[in-house]
Amino acid sequence: MNETQRQIQELTTNLKKYNQEYYELDQPTISDSEYDDLLRQLIELEQQYPEYMLSDSPTRFVGGKRSQKFEKVTHQYPMQSLSNAFSFAELEEFEQRILSAVQLTSIEYICELKIDGLAMAAHYDAHGQLQLGATRGDGVTGENVTQNLKALPHFPKQLPLSQPLEVRGEVYLAKSQFHRINHERMVAGEATFANPRNAAAGSMRQLDASIVQKRQLEMFVYGAPQPMYQQFTTDQKHATLLTVFKDLGLPVNPHTQVCQNLQEVWQFIEKWSFERALLDYEIDGIVIKVNDTALYEQIGTTAKAPKWAIAYKFPAEQVETILEDIIFTVGRTGQVTPNAVLTPVQVAGTTVQRATLHNEDYIRERDIRIGDTVVIQKAGEIIPEVVKVVSDKRPENTVAFSMVATCPSCQSQLMRQADEAAYYCQNPQCQSKIIENLIHFASRTAMNIDGLGEKIVEQLYTEQLITTIPDIYRLEHEIITSLERLGDKSAQNLLTAIENSKSNSLEKLLFGLGIRFVGAKVATVLAKHFQTMEQLAQATIEELETIDEIGNRIATSVVTWFANDDNQKLIQQLTDLEVNMTYTNHVEVVGETQFREKTVVLTGTLSKLKRTQAKQLLEQLGAKVTGSVSKKTDYVIAGSEAGSKLKKAQELQIPILTEDDLIAILKEVGLFETE
Ligand code: NAD
Repeated sequence: MNETQRQIQELTTNLKKYNQEYYELDQPTISDSEYDDLLRQLIELEQQYPEYMLSDSPTRFVGGKRSQKFEKVTHQYPMQSLSNAFSFAELEEFEQRILSAVQLTSIEYICELKIDGLAMAAHYDAHGQLQLGATRGDGVTGENVTQNLKALPHFPKQLPLSQPLEVRGEVYLAKSQFHRINHERMVAGEATFANPRNAAAGSMRQLDASIVQKRQLEMFVYGAPQPMYQQFTTDQKHATLLTVFKDLGLPVNPHTQVCQNLQEVWQFIEKWSFERALLDYEIDGIVIKVNDTALYEQIGTTAKAPKWAIAYKFPAEQVETILEDIIFTVGRTGQVTPNAVLTPVQVAGTTVQRATLHNEDYIRERDIRIGDTVVIQKAGEIIPEVVKVVSDKRPENTVAFSMVATCPSCQSQLMRQADEAAYYCQNPQCQSKIIENLIHFASRTAMNIDGLGEKIVEQLYTEQLITTIPDIYRLEHEIITSLERLGDKSAQNLLTAIENSKSNSLEKLLFGLGIRFVGAKVATVLAKHFQTMEQLAQATIEELETIDEIGNRIATSVVTWFANDDNQKLIQQLTDLEVNMTYTNHVEVVGETQFREKTVVLTGTLSKLKRTQAKQLLEQLGAKVTGSVSKKTDYVIAGSEAGSKLKKAQELQIPILTEDDLIAILKEVGLFETE
């Protein structure tokens, strides 16, 4: 085997691995731009040496394999990928290929945003009912994800049609939803998603449609298989079909533009390179399509992508800047993290001055030094990070990084645990740790003390007005108003919030105490199981381990925490200060109604009750409210415009009640006021 063959083989193997990670596991290990670079190298080599191209080359096939979890769908019309362009010159080549294929001197294009999500085919029957949702899979067969598609809150389940229609589009997760979900996952101690695209793809390939519903995915429709143009437009223009779709009620992205030449296309690209930052969803490029679909057959396709469209990919959001300093921050667990102080620079529409350097190993592996020109990247929505050093721009006399040996806050010796890359400050009296712990205690997910944020905690600590958690409950009005910038009203609000927090249910307090490995979710499990702080404090490791969600690591941490004298004193002081130590989050079942211990599904639009309110009330009646109808469902409560769930309930002969039926029962047990 010669060097070229070896290179082609290696690229093929690696790209296939990356494809599997990206399409099947929704867990890419390299960035999209690195992937695109490798794919490009392979395309170039294969063009030069077609005899070495392997039969399973990723340049010839679309995406990944189908998951066995879902029923298989064979696409009547293949779902292809798109070829990429990275420069104006490549767009010119794209245009030349088209012009010579159709023997014309100019061509009309339509530009669309390239939504970064998951490709989806949606089929409507001749009555306009949404019948099937399918993923792209390998382009020939995909996965039947109809239930998940139907769980998209704004995607129409019914269209005013008199003939079948298949549309193609992209399912995506809005940036704002992505932040919300990741925040919730972080609080629950679950792994966060790397970016909205992975979150969307991962969600659509869950078997439980209620997960999709909770995540509030959306879809933009951007096209259809060729025969639809003949059936739904008179001029076979792509732009016309998009208007037809919009009029039918399908979600079409509003930012499309017909362009008469490549200059206009380029202006559109330049405009969106900047304005993409303002969108609430991610786009990774611009799709340029020939507007006249009657030309498509003549222009043709490759095995993987059409030749009448191309995706211009935005350059990776990486920029160079100077690393001015490396500073260290101390977290509430005592973890000391190195951070880069940068010469301010614009990345992905925001000014970046700080970036994480993760830990000592990360810096050493990349030999990152103060004074270096570094490449920083904002990957998806993640905090910016320093990716690498531009070595030929290194100034003279830089010194290799060395990790601080002592805590930047209290100067005590740092320790590195055997199996971790991080260093920890072990001093329980460390000022930074104490402040971070107090901030955590007051935070929303913990004791939810509104008004006791970072600034005030720091101020109160500096004045030595609070140095421990119990001190929060000893604060008085005069003490607070003595602080700079804190008026009478704010002081009163703060005191009320502190007082209210005393009656929080046990899990909030447990989470607030910052016991290692006890996140919000574990805190709830423990509080529910033991009901009181006293019971939990007496639990043994073995006892804790009998609980499903609790493993040895958590059990040991909890027992060690309660065995510590200082912690016992802390609990005693909080008890004396009348902070609640019991689990009070139970839902008391009210009345003996038909809903007690039954599984109920709510569907359609309710007019008198809000959906969350109806759910809560049903739970008070002792019902379990679930998101999808199955044989296990006992009742379905249907509001107006109830769709597939209602149909399924009818098929399964599940009793269906109206909102008024529910209200009548609620009135009987006094959970709904009679006018
Ligand atoms: P693609 O995402 O580059 O382009 C094709 C897809 O774009 C279509 O299938 C469609 O779903 C989507 N699309 C969005 N908006 C559209 C619009 N307005 N009109 C038409 N289509 C639109 O191609 P692909 O084959 O899905 O994926 C390849 C890309 O995925 C690579 O270039 C790379 O960026 C990324 N990838 C990354 C890794 C990794 O490990 N990081 C691995 C595999 C693929």
